[in-house]
Amino acid sequence: MLSSRPIARNSGVLSARRDAIVLAILITAVLLLIWNGSTFFSHVRIDGSFASDVRVASTALTLNVALILFGWRRYIDLQHEAEVRAEQDRRAALLATTDPATGLFNRKGFADRATQLCLEAGARGDNLIVISFQIHRFKSVNDQHGYEAGEWFLRSIAAALPLELGEEALIARLSGDEFAVALPLGPSESDRAEDLADAVLRTVARPLMLDDRIIQVGAFAGIASAPAADASIPDVLRRADMAMDRARSGRVTRPVWFDAGMERALIAHGEIEQGIRFGLDHGQFVPYFEPQVDLATGEIVGFEVLARWNHALSGVIGPDVFIPVAEEIGLIGRLSEQVISEALREAAQWDSGIKISVNISPSQLADGWLAQRIVRILAETAFPAERLVIEITETSLFSDMDLARSIVTSLKNQGMRLALDDFGTGFSSLAHIRSLPFDIIKIDRSFVTNVTAKKENVAVIRAVTTLAAALSVPVCVEGIENEEAYSAVVRLGGTIGQGWYFGKPMPAEQTRELLAARSRGEQPPLSAAANG
Ligand code: C2E
Ligand code: MG
Ligand code: MG
Repeated sequence: MLSSRPIARNSGVLSARRDAIVLAILITAVLLLIWNGSTFFSHVRIDGSFASDVRVASTALTLNVALILFGWRRYIDLQHEAEVRAEQDRRAALLATTDPATGLFNRKGFADRATQLCLEAGARGDNLIVISFQIHRFKSVNDQHGYEAGEWFLRSIAAALPLELGEEALIARLSGDEFAVALPLGPSESDRAEDLADAVLRTVARPLMLDDRIIQVGAFAGIASAPAADASIPDVLRRADMAMDRARSGRVTRPVWFDAGMERALIAHGEIEQGIRFGLDHGQFVPYFEPQVDLATGEIVGFEVLARWNHALSGVIGPDVFIPVAEEIGLIGRLSEQVISEALREAAQWDSGIKISVNISPSQLADGWLAQRIVRILAETAFPAERLVIEITETSLFSDMDLARSIVTSLKNQGMRLALDDFGTGFSSLAHIRSLPFDIIKIDRSFVTNVTAKKENVAVIRAVTTLAAALSVPVCVEGIENEEAYSAVVRLGGTIGQGWYFGKPMPAEQTRELLAARSRGEQPPLSAAANG
């Protein structure tokens, strides 16, 4: 980005130097004129006639006058050039510090002006308040109403905010849908900061009419403050951003104040990120196996592979801690594949009737090479494709249905089976059951908790089992924790069950022992039904 200050300083130095040169030429010319003039007049005799060499003197005089006129003209031209240049500098400086779409400050302008504001506010003992806010679903304004409508919408907000926040507030657009406000407030005025942040949210969320369309969005806001005398603008802004992130992730519609816990959580996130990289290089991610039981016979028919992190200091860590971070930093594919590979190498030694289910994240399903990678793992581990079940969630299908369909078709062509995981959560729709060739539907465990107490849960499980039966697709019900849930699921037509009632996820060695004991007949089948 252009920086206004260096340009202005350079052009100032240049024009001062140029003025000095032109002035020196003019002074020299005037001195020459005086000297030539006196020479000329010394050739004029008392009776008015000229001495014989007067022609030389008059030529010198004429040249001198011409030189002065030329110099003067040049001076005027240069003066004009300087004005044009100064205007260009001013525009460049403006561009470097403002957002062209809204006329608000940009990040640089905001930082420059907020630093100035801190100098003044610091002397009064005030605090610097920064409100960071993000328009929720601004992209959908562009998508639904067009780019121009989006620009118009931003300009409308930019025009309305100063009226709400007052003259002293610095308002900036930092990126597409992110904005910040900085203003000084007395140490006891934190309530006012919240009122102003509320006003920002109200202003952004008011419905606007464009032709015959109503455009309305929401926003999330975070507030941070620091004593203006020693505030670092990037730090206060970062903290307000962190508070805004917290508001956004929790869908909090009120402004959220920054607190130190947020910074600690971010550091922990950074440590998890580093830890994941280290763990991947040192084989710390291992498969755990959760039994899947045939509800009619009580026999183990398969295992779901669930990743665990064998952390050197913290012990065994569950996937809710590391899967979201691994997804964010783009390592979920590597992590899952490492875990799947180890699981299949192990399970290749087990009873050939036992199926292995593995989880595929939405971001993995956006990778056009996924099918090839899984086929390679099968080849490397000598695990038959027919024994592998790929679990995908409905959310995975939304980002690119065509790509998902083509990956799934490749996997099925290789002989693998496909399960629809966590059915009933998020954007569930019975239509999805028909949209892809699923071989199994897994009902999310949230429907099984308190299944007997909640009529809606019973209704959902019954609707899914009925539709699945009509399509001849078996239903696996997750999260069966006790006898009561188990009986209810059997009554409602579940085919396969999974949950702590049958066994918690366990490491490979323990799974091997369980299977060995069962094959020796030392362990009864895992269901009350089979026990009689
Ligand atoms: P999921 O595929 O729905 O896995 C089932 C989750 O339910 C597992 O949690 C399991 O431990 C838990 N669970 C099973 N039975 C019960 C029960 O009776 N009661 C309760 N309260 N919970 C039960 P976990 O292991 O924490 O896995 C969470 C999610 O992480 C999984 O959900 C799956 O989506 C994801 N995940 C796990 N391992 C991997 C992996 O290797 N790759 C990918 N991409 N995702 C994975
Ligand atoms: Mg699963
Ligand atoms: Mg599940």
